[in-house]
Parts: sequence; structure tokens; C-alpha cells
Amino acid sequence: MTKDLRFECQPGCIECCRQQGFVYLTQADLERAATFLGLKPAAFERKYVYRTRHRMRLRVPRRANCHFLHQGGCGIHPAKPSQCYAFPFWPELLGSRRAWAKTARYCPGIGQGPLIQIATATAQAEEMRQGFPEQYR
Ligand code: SF4
Repeated sequence: MTKDLRFECQPGCIECCRQQGFVYLTQADLERAATFLGLKPAAFERKYVYRTRHRMRLRVPRRANCHFLHQGGCGIHPAKPSQCYAFPFWPELLGSRRAWAKTARYCPGIGQGPLIQIATATAQAEEMRQGFPEQYR
């Protein structure tokens, strides 16, 4: 486990949103974002979600990182998916000093701000584990 965690998201930064990779969704994520946008969950899913047998993820637009990433930041910030709000306290990052250090190369918030209680960080990681059991088996 990574020790002495400091993290404070930096205003105006969108680097984590610009990284390669998919944003996976729980059913609760889908419903929260749909409500925020004033859509029925089914309508939100048709437009923004790619569902396989075991997982759902946001569709990736052709020439952008995310449908909801605008110049001012995340367009669904108050209702953003759990994977996004838990960052950088993902189990795979918290559990590896190396992965944490690698993430710090693009996330300027790592190493900034007050010390984060380990319990706070692990609670976020646990939420990820529970939300995505296939991924963290
Ligand atoms: S990369 Fe780090 S500092 Fe930048 S928006 Fe993401 S969490 Fe915040």
C-alpha cells in the first residue's frame, strides 16, 4: 500500500480525463448521470453507453476523449461515474507504489494538499471493488 498520500485535484486540470482507457459504469452511475442530464436511463444508455454481457462503459467519441469532457471540465461533474470520482484512489494504484508514482507523472494533484487518511482512500478503493467485481476479482 502506498504511504503518505497527498492529493488535491488541481483547478482547471483535465489530465486524468485525457488518458487512454475506458470509463466503466455501474448501474447506479448510469442512472445518476441520466437523471443529471434529464434523460431516462434507457435513453442515456442508447446514446452514451456500450454494454457487453458483464460490463458497461461510456462510448468514446471519434475525435475526443469523452462525450462529457468540455473545455471547462467535466460536463456531468456532480454526477460523474464512480471510476472518475474515485480517481486516483483505485485499488490498482493504491496497492502499488510504482503505479502511484507513474500516475503522478500526469496527475499534478498527487503530492499536493493535505495528507489523506488511509481509511478515506481505502474506502474509495473498496467502493471500486464492490462496483466492479469482475475487474477486481
Ligand atoms: S489529473 Fe489529477 S489534478 Fe488533474 S483533474 Fe485529474 S485528478 Fe485532478
